[in-house]
Amino acid sequence: MIMNLKRTKIVAIAMAICFLLIHIFFLITFKQSGIYPMVCFNYFSIPFYIVICFVAYTGYLQLYTCLVYVEVVLHACLAVICTGWGSGFQTIIIGINILAFYSEYLGRMLRLRYARMLPFGIFGMFLYLFSYVYVYYNPPKYSIPPEYEFWMNIILGAIVFAITLFMLEFFVLIVYKSNDKLEHQMSHDKLTELPNRYYMSSYLNQIRERGQLGDYWIAIADIDNFKRINDSYGHNCGDYVLKTVANILAGDKKVLCCRWGGEEFIFISKIEGSGENARQYLDSLRRAVESYLFVYRDVCRHDQKCTDALLCREYNNTSFKVTVTIGMSLFEQGMDIDSWISSADAKLYKGKQSGKNQVVMN
Ligand code: GH3
Ligand code: MG
Ligand code: MG
Repeated sequence: MIMNLKRTKIVAIAMAICFLLIHIFFLITFKQSGIYPMVCFNYFSIPFYIVICFVAYTGYLQLYTCLVYVEVVLHACLAVICTGWGSGFQTIIIGINILAFYSEYLGRMLRLRYARMLPFGIFGMFLYLFSYVYVYYNPPKYSIPPEYEFWMNIILGAIVFAITLFMLEFFVLIVYKSNDKLEHQMSHDKLTELPNRYYMSSYLNQIRERGQLGDYWIAIADIDNFKRINDSYGHNCGDYVLKTVANILAGDKKVLCCRWGGEEFIFISKIEGSGENARQYLDSLRRAVESYLFVYRDVCRHDQKCTDALLCREYNNTSFKVTVTIGMSLFEQGMDIDSWISSADAKLYKGKQSGKNQVVMN
């Protein structure tokens, strides 16, 4: 579930109501057991959580987190001091940390004001240890009936474990997903959605490490006279052409096609049969681009926005053609990745010099 401010507020209010109900239950239990300091504390906690609901409702989530944290750890510490370590209240101090740190994470993600939870966590740890030492030297004055204590430990243990395990699993998923997303953003071009130069470089390095460069061909395609398209019909139109050409060039999934930069694309694939097969494949791509009819109207459809109304009016019914020149190179002994790419680039240059719209292999 993607959290936004509204959802966060709803969850915060729901949690405050849960805490309120838990304190009503505690009040009854402590009253029945005659543990008066805890009864007094819970008389304070019940209205406290009603106020906390309003704090969450008004959006002071930072204040909400701090106040709830302090109330929970103080309540748990006092309960341990009154009833002893055996009642298990100290586990709550451990469990609340995970919720508190999740709240800090949410605050950061939603770009809200958030409280750093580390000092609070250290305060919680201090109370946890303090309550242990205190009851070690000062035996508790009150005791919860054994059957209550038994169930209290079971319920508190189950709740704390459930929260901890669920939240940790959730954090693992969040980290994993955002890593995936970052990796994708880093290795893909936003405009054409093709893998980018970085992706291609690491792909080539992997092949080199396996010593298999000789089994592959590479090629570089460059859109002819692309600057003219930008100059005539605007940058949006240039982008539309780039996306459409990218779609055509990346048609075959067996051939890796990346955006090398600007209006250049790079291909790599295993040699199947001979280099001539690859040349024919590249020529089929060249012909596919050549025969595609680009329509100015589609610029707006592509971008979902028309930023230049004047251009749009002028060229709305215009259609135009685009061509690409491709330089292809097979790996030769003594080459490294850079010189291999340079050799494909040199073939591309040769194609540009001799009329464009062609595939040059030798
Ligand atoms: P040639 O046939 O020799 O390749 O000429 P060309 O006009 O295609 O090449 P040139 O290098 O002169 O111009 C490339 C242009 O590509 C210049 C640059 O503004 C444009 N360009 C680069 N990246 C983008 C982009 O992401 N979007 C758009 N719209 N234009 C881009
Ligand atoms: Mg060009
Ligand atoms: Mg270029």
